[in-house]
Amino acid sequence: MKDITPTTGRGFLDYAPAPESTSILHLKDSYGLFIDGEFREGTGGSFATISPATEKRIAEIANGSEADVDAAVAAARRAYEKTWSKLSGADRGKYLFRIARLVQERARELAVAESLDNGKPIKESRDTDIPLVAAWFFYYAGWADKLDYAGLGANPRAHGVAAQIIPWNFPLLMLAWKIAPALAAGNTVVLKPAETTPLSALLFAEILQQADLPPGVVNIVTGAGETGQALVRHPDVDKVAFTGSTGVGREIAKAIAGTRKKATLELGGKAANIVFDDAPIDQAVEGIVNGIFFNQGHVCCAGSRLLVQENIHDEVVDRLKQRLMTLRLGDPLDKNTDIGAINSAEQLERIRTLSDIGEREGAERWSAPCDIPENGFWFAPTIFTGVTTSSTIAREEIFGPVLSVLTFRTPAEAIAKANNTPYGLSAGIWSDKGSKILAVADKLRAGVIWANTFNRFDPASPFGGYKESGYGREGGRHGLGAYLTTQAVEDRPAQPDASRASRRTKGPKK
Ligand code: NAP
Ligand code: MG
Repeated sequence: MKDITPTTGRGFLDYAPAPESTSILHLKDSYGLFIDGEFREGTGGSFATISPATEKRIAEIANGSEADVDAAVAAARRAYEKTWSKLSGADRGKYLFRIARLVQERARELAVAESLDNGKPIKESRDTDIPLVAAWFFYYAGWADKLDYAGLGANPRAHGVAAQIIPWNFPLLMLAWKIAPALAAGNTVVLKPAETTPLSALLFAEILQQADLPPGVVNIVTGAGETGQALVRHPDVDKVAFTGSTGVGREIAKAIAGTRKKATLELGGKAANIVFDDAPIDQAVEGIVNGIFFNQGHVCCAGSRLLVQENIHDEVVDRLKQRLMTLRLGDPLDKNTDIGAINSAEQLERIRTLSDIGEREGAERWSAPCDIPENGFWFAPTIFTGVTTSSTIAREEIFGPVLSVLTFRTPAEAIAKANNTPYGLSAGIWSDKGSKILAVADKLRAGVIWANTFNRFDPASPFGGYKESGYGREGGRHGLGAYLTTQAVEDRPAQPDASRASRRTKGPKK
């Protein structure tokens, strides 16, 4: 292997600390549940949300009980019947535009809150998460008065009350993916954020108050898995939208089977990032780093399996190691940080366990040398080489900064290995030949495929999975369709069309 002594970082041309100030945040010491347009105390006790970088308590959060969930669903039902379903699409759109603008106005505050509560680097929350949150609201605001023209079917109507459950990896962005299309389509919402990252959803509730959104249109019920369970099982819910693990997704599918509830499930992934020997290697290395080390690898569509053509394997792995040694791990609020904290002790344990299994099964482990802070939850960027398709770390989602490297010789082998997974959320292809990219993409069973890039998101582009990565799409026109029922062509009352009937029987005039 080439010399990979670090040339930057600790000790040599080191960066000065550049922490983002938290003075912009005016947090309360405790937060209640946001029901019917106001914060109120819950009846299920409370829990603390902490910063995973320091393990310090940030605020006390209400733990929504079954009775609280019931109150939130009742508020959403009332709001649906009395106000939201009576508004025109244009008026609903105005609220969404207002929310989007308020998100932009409070962007820095939201980014700081997100990094504090989640552990992600401020440069990611500031430059990716929050701008995308605003983009999602702007995009769906534009659809609110055009549902009839979305081409989804005749007479589009909202489902009613949507129960939405989101994970901790992109807390506010996942909220936006759920709430923006639901409201644009005319539904009202009860949303449960993840237990470890409720903060930005509660600040968002304040934004809803600022925007004068009618009470009950959006309700935020914080809590743990049991709160989510009560929400999914509530009999007055019309639609369930869930993003999270495949295991919980399966439980939800069982819980609602046989009911009238519609569902979309956005679940886990184990994406292949395929690098051909004709790829621009420097760009591919950046794409691999972005693919698996962005957001500490807590990304459902992360490129966690690198499939590299055998003849360039050593070169790619060497360059990757060089690059990883320049990544800066540490304080999420420091503007120079590339790798922040792992979201929770529980997730850190899972990453450690799976990495140990990888080693035990014979893969070679390499971790970038990092100074790991004393407090908080951290895991150095790690690469496993010599991984086979049957290795646990090639099959199970690690959801951390751990890359499994496999090789292939031919495009056919790359496709077979890429598809050899129970998941099918995303994939990446690196090659300078457009024809090869299209031919390979056509055979990959993945909902999103990036070519010569990775982890790109746009509100107009649908996102979702095949197989155990779930069903339904979020984003774009498809994402809107998930919140509407339309009349199928065959259900429409027959409309005698004299002119057409006569044309058909008589045939065209000669
Ligand atoms: P998770 O454990 O499935 O939790 C997701 C959400 O469901 C959380 O709000 C959780 O509450 C709640 N929940 C837990 N048990 C529940 C139950 N029985 N009924 C209803 N709700 C329940 O997943 P996670 O660990 O937070 O997130 C990581 C997973 O999400 C990964 O597998 C990742 O791939 C997936 N993900 C997928 C996408 C996508 O778009 N496909 C996007 C992001 C993440 P608590 O937090 O309080 O436990
Ligand atoms: Mg937290």
